Amino acid sequence: METIALRLSVTNDYLFRNGDSWVLVDTGYAEDRELFERRLADAGIALSDISHLILTHHHDDHAGLVNWLVARNPHIAVVMSDLTKELLLVGHNDLSHGGGLINRKIARLIGFKRFGVFFKTGKLPKKEANLSFEPYAARENDIILSCEVRLRDIGIEADGAIFATPGHTVDSVSILFDDGDCLVGDAAAAMLSFAGTYHCVIFVMDLAQYYESWRLILSRGAKRILPAHGKVFSAGLLERDMGKNRQEGIVQYGS
Ligand SMILES: [Zn+2]
Repeated sequence: METIALRLSVTNDYLFRNGDSWVLVDTGYAEDRELFERRLADAGIALSDISHLILTHHHDDHAGLVNWLVARNPHIAVVMSDLTKELLLVGHNDLSHGGGLINRKIARLIGFKRFGVFFKTGKLPKKEANLSFEPYAARENDIILSCEVRLRDIGIEADGAIFATPGHTVDSVSILFDDGDCLVGDAAAAMLSFAGTYHCVIFVMDLAQYYESWRLILSRGAKRILPAHGKVFSAGLLERDMGKNRQEGIVQYGS
């Protein structure tokens, strides 16, 4: 599938065609707004060209600009799971379902929240990440998913499906195109491999479920993984790295 990646401060947004319009996948942090506008303009796309915004999950670095986007273009239909819809009302990254960060040693050394930012950016921040965002209340023209759908069934002219790939969060979904390209959000990542991430994103809610989602992505025929953090990689690497991170290597939030 032909996609355009918008590289923001830590997040990759993706765009793909819907006839004459574009579908945007994720938004980046609220603080990324100017960068987002610049990258979109560089790609030759206007906000008015965007018909749908698909959110892979509710996190602040994926949904941070949703309020601003629909204020600028109210015709955008936000596509999200019913769980994402609920979590966006909270205004804070969900920690109520547990979870922790890959790589216990470094997390202990520098502290949980600063560690999170370090892993995302490669820079050690002076202050902790606040993990908050402006709450978003779904509107009438948004599309709320409670099960798997084909893109054409929700009015998007592209061949592929959206299905649940939980583990990073309870609400994570992936988009798999029929040609094997898979937009995974944070269901897999290519970042900071030197610290032993093995294609996991740094925060995982449920590691067993995370790998279960990898199995699903592979069994459905994914060939290329297009992650929200890091560069595109072959789906074969998920097979290779399956299970390499163990529960003992994860520091739980609050511990
Ligand atoms: Zn996330």
